[in-house]
Amino acid sequence: MKRIVVIGAGPAGMAAALEAARSGNEVIVLDKNSITGRKLRITGAGRGNLTNLNVTPNKYFSHHDAGFVRSVIGKMDSTAMVDYLHELGIFTWHTDDGWVYPVSNSAVNVAALFEARLIEAGVKLKLGTTVQDILWTPVSIRVITTQGEELQCSRLIIACGGKAYPELGSTGELFTVMERLGHKVWPIKPALAPVVTDMKSIHKLQGVRLDAVVSLWRKNEMVAETEGNIIFTHWGINGPGVMDVSHWVNEYLQDALFLQIDFLGKYTKDFLSFLKDQRNAKLGIGPLFGSVLPPKMVTFLLEQSGIPAGTQISQISDEKLDGLLSLARHLRIDIKDLKGFDQCQVSAGGISLAEVDPVTMHSKRLPGIYFAGEMLDVIGPCGGYNLHWAQATGILAGRGVTL
Ligand SMILES: Cc1cc2nc3c(=O)[nH]c(=O)nc-3n(C[C@H](O)[C@H](O)[C@H](O)COP(=O)(O)OP(=O)(O)OC[C@H]3O[C@@H](n4cnc5c(N)ncnc54)[C@H](O)[C@@H]3O)c2cc1C
Repeated sequence: MKRIVVIGAGPAGMAAALEAARSGNEVIVLDKNSITGRKLRITGAGRGNLTNLNVTPNKYFSHHDAGFVRSVIGKMDSTAMVDYLHELGIFTWHTDDGWVYPVSNSAVNVAALFEARLIEAGVKLKLGTTVQDILWTPVSIRVITTQGEELQCSRLIIACGGKAYPELGSTGELFTVMERLGHKVWPIKPALAPVVTDMKSIHKLQGVRLDAVVSLWRKNEMVAETEGNIIFTHWGINGPGVMDVSHWVNEYLQDALFLQIDFLGKYTKDFLSFLKDQRNAKLGIGPLFGSVLPPKMVTFLLEQSGIPAGTQISQISDEKLDGLLSLARHLRIDIKDLKGFDQCQVSAGGISLAEVDPVTMHSKRLPGIYFAGEMLDVIGPCGGYNLHWAQATGILAGRGVTL
């Protein structure tokens, strides 16, 4: 029987601990929080968006080539994840676009079930325990806590998250320890973060929420494009539609970056043909645009295009109508900054995948040490991709320690 210590009782650490314990090992989980899965409990606005039916390797971003992620997803795709969750007792449902939630719609219940399974498997939970150092030699691994305790183990799984939402426990101090022990760590930066923008032209859009196609531009080059819900605030734009491109903002923040937003998105074709049909009608342009856009957005677009509210479509010149449509499909908004760790959902960067075995999550540098979850240099978009990654790599690490 091996003694396995797991640092972190997040989704990655709990999945890892459960798998390791199922092979009859002594497993001890340490977490600085006094409850398990503190971050997990607030995910998906409390509903826990646990995976996504569209999980594929190309949805993820890393500084390494895609081979590592491909290997992980090849072993744990969304079907395998849903089956795994069902086996634990976490029944799931999914939205039309594939976002998977627990039937209870309660992330707290998910954490509670994980914890119950850990206790059932004989895992020892040492909560309220902060790890401050790891001492590694080829023949021993010792974990040092801030309480002065020293725990010896034959395998150590580090699943202590990134630096997003630090008040929930993940503050990134063990990245420094891993660097000291010789691991390459890619700089940790906010990702899935709201974008701070120039507000001059768009301040009237505050409070507008809608689905849109969002592209990120660096001079004349489109860096990334995504589709999702966006919310205009008093400082910029929030929501999955901008969060999914935000890690690129950090990569190029020194350049002049801007967002280009297409508010017609998937309705473009139908709406353009509808407008063509109505071109000579005695109908107000406002109500016509109101068929696909919220009222505040319609008012904004008309104002920006210099078209008085109440103008009939038949009275608008082709040039003016083209200008209005162009604005609705290509609104340019300059980016000033990105919100920080306290408002982002994950952090980009972390342990370089080049130094980790993609099958077992075993460190190639420090035999006996394994990694799982957000602390690896991988991020996914909004929609369950990050919990999928945490759980999948946790499962693989938990199995890896028993090999
Ligand atoms: C508001 C919010 C909503 C989100 N919603 C979703 C969602 O719906 N779907 C999705 O896929 N992703 C979501 N995410 C992202 C997701 O929560 C993370 O990707 C995931 O929790 C990472 O799991 P992890 O186990 O690697 O790390 P964490 O969940 O961060 O767990 C790491 C644990 O390690 C502990 N720890 C850290 N350092 C130490 C130390 N030195 N000593 C002891 N313990 C330590 C921490 O206390 C923490 O409990 C959301 C994130 C946020 C912030």
